[in-house]
Amino acid sequence: MQFDRLRLNGFKSFVDPTELVIRRGLTGVVGPNGCGKSNLLEALRWVMGENRPTAMRGEGMEDVIFAGTTRRPARAHAEVGLAIDNSARLAPVGFNDSDSLEITRRITRDAGSAYRINGREVRARDVQMLFADASTGSQSPALVRQGQISELINAKPKSRRRVLEEAAGIGGLYQRRHEAELK
Ligand code: ATP
Ligand code: MG
Repeated sequence: MQFDRLRLNGFKSFVDPTELVIRRGLTGVVGPNGCGKSNLLEALRWVMGENRPTAMRGEGMEDVIFAGTTRRPARAHAEVGLAIDNSARLAPVGFNDSDSLEITRRITRDAGSAYRINGREVRARDVQMLFADASTGSQSPALVRQGQISELINAKPKSRRRVLEEAAGIGGLYQRRHEAELK
């Protein structure tokens, strides 16, 4: 799956609308401490459906909304959009008529998150499955967090297996089986 563009608005330190063009071959982001590198990676995970506030280094999901500074007021919502290449037609049924997809997630204080694919409202699950099936989910080993390598070394075999399953693209199948068993 090829990412083309990441748009942020009110997400963490990215209070003003910011657009990052993701060109082929981009493998890293450099910059001074505190400039927002980790926030960018967190934005990627978040728009893919990450729901654990701890993965966003917060206590609650609303902590991703720009919290304000002495000079600028806090925001009421945050939005992240990720444009991906859809020439391989990976999108869920009904969205495969276009060569490019923009997935957006927006969070409003006290109202939770809403997801859209090309402007049409979808469920969180639709977005999570889209990325899980392409082996690039929010827990994908393609995105390496600070401290993640030592976590992996010290992990129990079961959690280590989950990393391999995600890489193999079968995370979505497990989720579907789990849902089928609940029905
Ligand atoms: P390092 O090189 O130290 O890892 P980094 O480039 O990864 O730094 P980040 O951790 O992405 O930096 O950014 C940290 C900055 O983001 C801090 O200045 C922090 O105050 C700011 N920040 C985080 N969450 C919010 C928020 N909700 N509202 C406003 N600013 C925020
Ligand atoms: Mg960092």
